[in-house]
Amino acid sequence: VASSSGSGDEKELRAPICCILGHVDAGKTKLLDCIRRTKVQQGEAGGITQQIGTTYLPVENIRERTSLKAEVTVKVPGLLVIDTPGHESFSKMRSRGSSLCDIAVVVVDITRGLEKQTIESLDLLKRHNVRFIVALNKVDRLYGWKPCHNAPIAKALKNQSVDVQMEYRWRLTEVVTQFKENGFNTALYYENKKMKHVFNIVPTSAKSCEGIPDLLLLLVRWVPEIMIEKLVYDDTVECTVLEVNEVKDLGATIDVVLINGVLHQGDQVIVCTEQGPVTTVIKDLLTPHPMKELKAKGIYKHHKELRAAQGVKIVARGLQHAMAGTSLVVVKAGDDLQQCEAVAMQEIDRVISMMDEN
Ligand code: GDP
Repeated sequence: VASSSGSGDEKELRAPICCILGHVDAGKTKLLDCIRRTKVQQGEAGGITQQIGTTYLPVENIRERTSLKAEVTVKVPGLLVIDTPGHESFSKMRSRGSSLCDIAVVVVDITRGLEKQTIESLDLLKRHNVRFIVALNKVDRLYGWKPCHNAPIAKALKNQSVDVQMEYRWRLTEVVTQFKENGFNTALYYENKKMKHVFNIVPTSAKSCEGIPDLLLLLVRWVPEIMIEKLVYDDTVECTVLEVNEVKDLGATIDVVLINGVLHQGDQVIVCTEQGPVTTVIKDLLTPHPMKELKAKGIYKHHKELRAAQGVKIVARGLQHAMAGTSLVVVKAGDDLQQCEAVAMQEIDRVISMMDEN
């Protein structure tokens, strides 16, 4: 994790955590592919790590993909994207009653406008006070659209005929009206003069990856502007279990999102299970090799310690019944184990009651 550049009194920020929501078929999975460059040939993905359940994009990668000038500062070291699109990632990421992710991308199909699950997603975001960016997707489906692969949206739009541009404007206005009807003020991000209050819309095509540079830049440049306090790196471990995974030769492991703090090999931790808290010791911390190192030995990279924010696979005994969505409790030297277990117990009750609520 790089520290923020600039004057000494600036605080170090962690990577913002982003999840993707929207109606079925709006293009969430395909948009995620664009962001992760899943289809890009091995070795050319520029250090993007496909974590377990998450993808980490280092800021250098985003700089390169967006042709960001060297003098433009980015205050965060990267971007962590939750790989599970839809509501599932949401409930899983909810940590300690605070928000589930820092920022959401709500994908809307420009040819269909707001749909049932879009509105459900918006309700969920409102309830949890999570801000969002609208990816107004499938612009390439406007009749006569000429694709311009990976281009920023302004460049892609310039390339279109007057008819296409008119249809684009008309559909955009429709969507803005629909958002308004649902209680949200939205505007095209490059025309948005009140970014703190009016939600940004980024037109995208997940087919030709147009508008993806715009989306990435908003995520790493604008997001820190509006929630800098939330992104200040904090040593207190905040870590949410995404899922339990059986791995050959390793047994049951947990994939977690480390939101804050540092995890070490040898840390005593408590995982929450429906049968109660289970105390164990971290044997190993794993991340997949960055894509460009795919030829490296083994699937995973081993770490003595890992620092937030990133996705981590934890190897330890007794993980098989860990509950998704619960926090991992770290027992520090001098902590009272029973007290820590009581905290874990509260966590179990909280997640169970949240499951009932959802
Ligand atoms: P999800 O259900 O929201 O994850 O949607 P998918 O990503 O699976 O996409 C649904 C369908 O729409 C698939 O057939 C995609 O290929 C297609 N699709 C997604 N995004 C775009 C886009 O930007 N342009 C076009 N033309 N098709 C898209």
